[in-house]
Amino acid sequence: MTDLQPLLQGSLNDLHPIIIAGPCSAETEEQVLATAKDLAKNGIKIFRAGIWKPRTKPGGFEGVGAEGLQWLRRVKEETGMLTSTEVATRQHVEAALEAGVDILWIGARTSANPFAMQEIADALHDAKADVPVLVKNPVNPDLELWIGALQRLYNAGIHKLGAIHRGFSSYGKHLYRNLPQWHIPIELRRRFPNLPLISDPSHIGGKRELVAPLSQQALDMGFDGLIIESHCEPDCAWSDKAQQVTPDVLNFILNTLVLRDSSVTTESLTLLRQQIDELDNELLEVLNKRMRVSREIGQYKKEHRMPVLQIGRHDEIMQSRAKLAEEMGMSGEFMRNVLAAIHEESVRQQIEVFNDRTH
Ligand code: PEP
Ligand code: MN
Repeated sequence: MTDLQPLLQGSLNDLHPIIIAGPCSAETEEQVLATAKDLAKNGIKIFRAGIWKPRTKPGGFEGVGAEGLQWLRRVKEETGMLTSTEVATRQHVEAALEAGVDILWIGARTSANPFAMQEIADALHDAKADVPVLVKNPVNPDLELWIGALQRLYNAGIHKLGAIHRGFSSYGKHLYRNLPQWHIPIELRRRFPNLPLISDPSHIGGKRELVAPLSQQALDMGFDGLIIESHCEPDCAWSDKAQQVTPDVLNFILNTLVLRDSSVTTESLTLLRQQIDELDNELLEVLNKRMRVSREIGQYKKEHRMPVLQIGRHDEIMQSRAKLAEEMGMSGEFMRNVLAAIHEESVRQQIEVFNDRTH
C-alpha cells in the first residue's frame, strides 16, 4: 500500500503531525462555519464533520444528510481548509465526491463490514476517485479485518490510504470509551510502515480530559497525526458532547504536545518492543483482576468456613491450563511454572483475607 503523499506533504518523517479537526456532526450551517473559522484561525488545515451519523440505536440524531455537504463547500471556500466526512454507502460516496469533499473516512462500524467496504470500494472505482480515504479500525479488535478493508480500497484503485486508530468496543465500564489496545495499530504500522497512521483520541477516550494525554501517547508511539473532535459549543453538541473541545482548547492542547523524531519509531525493533510493553500492561491488568477474584473467593470460603486450599481444584487448573498452553504452541512446563507462581500468590492473598478481622 502506498501513502497519502499529497495530503501529508511535509508531514511524514518530519516533526509535524497531520491534524484533522472539526465537530463530530455537522448540525447547522452556523455551527459548521463558526467552528471551521475558529479552527482555521488557529492554523488547522483539514476540517472534519460527520454528515451521515451511524448511531447505535434509532431515534438519535442521524446526521443532517446531503444538505450539510454544501456547508462543507462553504468551509472550503471561506477558510481554504480541506474538508473530510464519513461515508458508509455508495450514495454517500457519490454525493460527497460530487460536492467536492477532499478526504473521505470510513467509520468503525463500516470497516467491520466487508459487504459495505466492497460497495464503497466499487463506488470509488466507478467514480474514478482520486481522493485520500482514511479507514478507521473496525469496532472489534480484528487487525485482519482492518487490513482487509484497506485492501478492498487498494484493489479498487484507491492508493491514497491512511488508517485511523479509534480504539475497540468492549462490554462494561472502562476508563476509555473504546479500549486503545495499542499493540494492534503498532502491528499494523510494523506490517505497513508507509501507511499513515492517525490517532482519534476523542473516540478512544470519550472524555475531553483524555484528549491531551492520549494524543501525546499516540505521538510518542510514532503516529503520523491526530483527528480530534472540536465544536464551537461542545456542551450543546448534538452528538459526542463529552469528548469535544472548543477550537481554543484544541489549540492549547496542540501547543502542549511534545513532538519526537518519528524516524526512530519506524524501526521494526522499536515497534515490536512497544507491542511487548503494551502486552505486558495487559498481562498485569489481567493478573490484577485474577487476584481480585481470588480475594473474593477467599472471602466466600471464610464466610462458609471452608479451607483455603482445595487440592483437587488446584490439580485440575494446572492440568487443563498446561494442556491448553501446549495446544497454543507453548511449553506445558512453562505454563505449570507460571501457574504455580500465580497460585502461590493467590493463596497468600486468600490467607490475608482470612486473617483480616475487619470483615
Ligand atoms: C466519528 O468520527 O464521529 C465516528 C462516528 O467515529 P467512529 O466510526 O470511530 O465511531
Ligand atoms: Mn463522534
